[in-house]
Amino acid sequence: PDESRLQPLIQPWPLAGSIGKTDLGLILAGDGVYVKDALGRSLIDGPAGMWCVNVGHRHPSIADALRDQAMTLTYTSPWYTSNNPARELAQMLADRAPGDLKHVFLTTGGSSAVETALRLMQFYNNVRGRPQKKLIVSRQGAYHGSTYLSASLNGRPRDHDWMDGATELARKLTCPDPFRRPEGLSIDAFEDFLEDEFRTMIEKEGADRIGAFIAEPVQASGGVLIPTKAYLTRMQAVCREHDILFIADEVVTAFGRLGHIFASQAVFGVEPDMITFAKGVTSGYFPLGGVMVSARLFDELRRSNHPDAMFAHGLTYSSHPIGCAVAIRNIELLENGILDHARAIAPYFQERLKTLEDLALVGEVRGIGLMAGIECVADREHNNPLQIDIEVGKRIDRHCQDLGLLVRPLINMCVMSPPLVINKAQVDSVVEILRQGISKTMD
Ligand code: PMP
Repeated sequence: PDESRLQPLIQPWPLAGSIGKTDLGLILAGDGVYVKDALGRSLIDGPAGMWCVNVGHRHPSIADALRDQAMTLTYTSPWYTSNNPARELAQMLADRAPGDLKHVFLTTGGSSAVETALRLMQFYNNVRGRPQKKLIVSRQGAYHGSTYLSASLNGRPRDHDWMDGATELARKLTCPDPFRRPEGLSIDAFEDFLEDEFRTMIEKEGADRIGAFIAEPVQASGGVLIPTKAYLTRMQAVCREHDILFIADEVVTAFGRLGHIFASQAVFGVEPDMITFAKGVTSGYFPLGGVMVSARLFDELRRSNHPDAMFAHGLTYSSHPIGCAVAIRNIELLENGILDHARAIAPYFQERLKTLEDLALVGEVRGIGLMAGIECVADREHNNPLQIDIEVGKRIDRHCQDLGLLVRPLINMCVMSPPLVINKAQVDSVVEILRQGISKTMD
């Protein structure tokens, strides 16, 4: 086949030199924390795919669950029928979710989970006779997906500024980025500033028009932004005051990345009205996502006499039996040792990565659980973002690949979110390779 015609179909835009005739970036196999590429190299999978291969690659027990389910029941309609793995998974999720999040709508990934949550919010407000309460507040730096509405909530303008009219429902608050907070503000004052900004927005738009506030507990693709201590609690309190649904987008933070099945309550002490999840729920072995929905919200919909009381929303592959069987086995594995391991190794992972702050190019290394971001700066004294070379993340990635590590480049950052099964020796390798890779980038 003519490779130049095939390539754009396989990969529509260039990723770190993976387009063209070279085999760079072509991954052939995986095993535990390692992947093997077409050049025959064994690489530590630093970003765990895209924050998702939580139990590691090629786990035999997940492969068994996948195969067993395929040999039992591959598919059944989620509309007219149900299936046992879906029922079992729904129960497991309800047992582990915080507060009264007792219902789950299963989807095919993160974007469809966010889209579902937003449609539910609109439907809920229609049923309550307030169809105009439908604006959605997100934050700069956010990432919520690549479908029309979810993309309109993303922080990066280039995700949506070409979609005429698409952002009519979206409103954005300041990026809760402690590292780049407005000059002169203490952390406490920054928290006040963020809350005040939300209150001012509510005043301006009207509480009767704002339907939801959506937030990643830790902004992941926005640069691993860890909220200040009381930020989420304070934002949730404002939501409750104004009857605004609080949606926690846990597509990255759930299923062990922060050491717990769900992180909202366990790590940040908040009980959202909905939680969206995907990625780690199957450790990337099958595309699956979902929304946990509070019983309060669900019961109100069920009791309603509204003529449209049936939430007309369904995906062909919702509740996919194979995806659900994989998710069940994945959660069992997480709870039979992997979560404990992730919690135990996280401080070592963070401490070791922090040592990279002595490199002149590194402005800050920040992280929580098994996710971390290394932010490069042009000038450490003023912490200016590295603007001379916005490709720095990609250059670090290329050097690190030569040394045996895959890195997720994010403009002036590198992100690390390895499989949760990473051990201390592998953490040491990651840090050593990053040190060499970043040093080479500075040369
Ligand atoms: N929300 C968050 C927080 C994400 O990180 C992502 C994916 N990176 C999504 C939603 C969208 O998920 P998907 O790509 O599975 O549609």
